[in-house]
Order: sequence, then structure tokens, then C-alpha cells
Amino acid sequence: MAASKRIRRTYETKVTQCKCEHCGKKFELPTSVVARGKGGKFCSRSCVNFARDYKPIPPEIRFWAKVEKTPTCWLWRGYVRPDGYGDFGQSTIPGDNEYAHRYSYRLAHGAIPDGLLVLHHCDVRNCVNPKHLYAGTAKQNTGDMFARNRAKPPRGESHFCAKLKAADVRRAREMRRNGMYWREIAEAFSVNEATTRRAVTGKSWSWVT
Ligand SMILES: [Zn+2]
Ligand SMILES: [Zn+2]
Repeated sequence: MAASKRIRRTYETKVTQCKCEHCGKKFELPTSVVARGKGGKFCSRSCVNFARDYKPIPPEIRFWAKVEKTPTCWLWRGYVRPDGYGDFGQSTIPGDNEYAHRYSYRLAHGAIPDGLLVLHHCDVRNCVNPKHLYAGTAKQNTGDMFARNRAKPPRGESHFCAKLKAADVRRAREMRRNGMYWREIAEAFSVNEATTRRAVTGKSWSWVT
């Protein structure tokens, strides 16, 4: 009697719930195995191998891969936020993104001084050329705008519906000579393609050389 009882007895193996560090899959392992340090990190051999070979691409390299350098502005070709400024994520952590031009500024010049904004000399919002960026106050930003407006050229810019500035037109023509697409140039200046074509081909802004 005692013998049959012993046979029916089941040995419950204690298991530990694990989560794969590579693929995130949940799996179970005997607690004794985990306790001996024999596993529990990865769900499978292939995940172990992936994790071993995985070397994240440094953010700096990912960053410059998304930049198109024209002779003047360096245009951000990654995601552009609705406000027209480039967006860059250093890590995969959601909400950890920052403005591309701010990242570029930090790479070139170090930390952004407290309370200052990173501003563009060139007015091209998706430009990340560190030479076009400077740290300034919000007031300086508007001051800069006034300074630019004060130097009113006789035509074009003073016209109420002018969408481009003379400097933009020169830059746009240069971009076109460098083989950029109409769409890309138009995006760089946040105007439509027709406006860009007219300005670049000289149908408008013909006095700008
Ligand atoms: Zn896995
Ligand atoms: Zn620029």
C-alpha cells in the first residue's frame, strides 16, 4: 500500500517566470536552473546569439546618416516635426527624442547653456549645420528676425505674399544645381513645389543672381 502511494506522488517543479532580454518573450524555467545561473535571460539559443552580436550603432553615426550636406545648409532628412524642425532619437526609449538641430549643436559645441535656445542663422528650420547654429535667447531670435526685416530689399521680400527671401532663392538655386529634387528643395523652405520651380528657374525672383 505504501509503495503504490509513493508511485502516485508527483513532484511539482517550481518554475520562475522569465522575460527574454532580446525578444521580450515570456518563458518559464525551473527555479533551480535559474538559481544556479544557468539561464533565465534569453528564451532561446538564437536570442543568446543575437544578443552577443548586437552592437548598437552609435547615435552620432545614425544622426549623420540622415543629413544631406549642401554647400550651405545641412538638411535633416529624417523625421521632421510639424513645426518644421528635425527630430532625432538618441536611444529607442520613447519620448527621449530631441530636436535634430539641438543634437547637432551639442555635438559640435557641447552642452546648451541653461535657459538658451538653439537658433538658426540661416532660418532653415531643418538645417543642422553647426556653423548655422547658435545659442541665444528667445528675444535674440525675434531680434534677429527684425534685423533681417530691417534690411528690406526693394522687391520680393517686401511683397506681402513673398514666401521666399532672396538668400533662400540663391540657396535653392544652388541646391538644384547640386542635383536635389524639387520636392526636397520645396520641403527645405516649407513652400510648395510650384513656388520653388518659379524661383529657381527665374520666372520669379529674376533679379536675384
Ligand atoms: Zn528571445
Ligand atoms: Zn543652415
